[in-house]
Amino acid sequence: MSDAIQDRCARGADARARFAFGDRPWPEEGLTIMTRRKKIYEGKAKILYEGPEPGTLIQYFKDDATAFDGTKKAVLEGKGVINNRISEYVMIRLNSIGVQNHFIRRLNLREQLIKEVEIIPLEVVCRNIAAGSLSRRFGLPEGQALPRSIIEFYLKDDKLGDPMVAEEHITAFNWAATQEIDDMMATTLRVNDFLTGLFGAVGITLVDFKIEYGRVWENDFSRVILADEISPDSCRLWDSATNEKLDKDRFRRDLGNVIESYTEVARRLGVMKEMPTVIQGGIQ
Ligand code: C5P
Repeated sequence: MSDAIQDRCARGADARARFAFGDRPWPEEGLTIMTRRKKIYEGKAKILYEGPEPGTLIQYFKDDATAFDGTKKAVLEGKGVINNRISEYVMIRLNSIGVQNHFIRRLNLREQLIKEVEIIPLEVVCRNIAAGSLSRRFGLPEGQALPRSIIEFYLKDDKLGDPMVAEEHITAFNWAATQEIDDMMATTLRVNDFLTGLFGAVGITLVDFKIEYGRVWENDFSRVILADEISPDSCRLWDSATNEKLDKDRFRRDLGNVIESYTEVARRLGVMKEMPTVIQGGIQ
């Protein structure tokens, strides 16, 4: 059965029923199992649904694109499909070098099974080259190499415009403990080194990226693991030869060809050979 039909089933069918089918071919009757499932959280680009087992969630990638704290909006047909694939690929590769993350497995075109984590309300940004808000804040020309990779923390709060925060704020307001900050910084640098190589090998420069972390608890102890997504929505990716932007800045700055650029990233990583039928056929 095609990915497109699985996708249609998945959006309506009960999560537990879907888990029972696992990766086996989807039965036609699946199309009639249309029960409502519990939405846990809806963000700007993703929805989290209750998972099939305790401690799991289903992460659904929407086609919605937003920028400038949600003031600019559009629907980019197929974006969710591409980001689901790219994020799956990157999370699997990170796991293979020991960077623990929430990804369990991809379920269909738009959904992946993930571990439920207690989200730390911080966006962790890592930068190699000046761009975006760093260029604006310090008057640095976009494209200028930074003397070393820089890590910044922002509070995840749309209403406040995700303000930048210092370690002092993070510990004083109990968003994360000092040890957790150290762990996030060390992991972010590892992610940066690995992704710089991963993208570099396919002719893409990793300018900067944003990642998020969550806690998983084992008895009274918690550890911090990587969560959310890693995709052209959350990274600045430039073609290494031409510096052409292949990421969400194409949407933010009205440069056009957004989906084509995301597809190009997926194609170079080897996770998508051509535009998926979901884009061409318009199945939502
Ligand atoms: O806008 P700024 O330059 O601070 O963004 C740094 C990096 O973090 C960029 O790759 C951007 O796509 C990403 N980011 C994000 N989500 C946000 C803010 C930034 O993915 N809310």
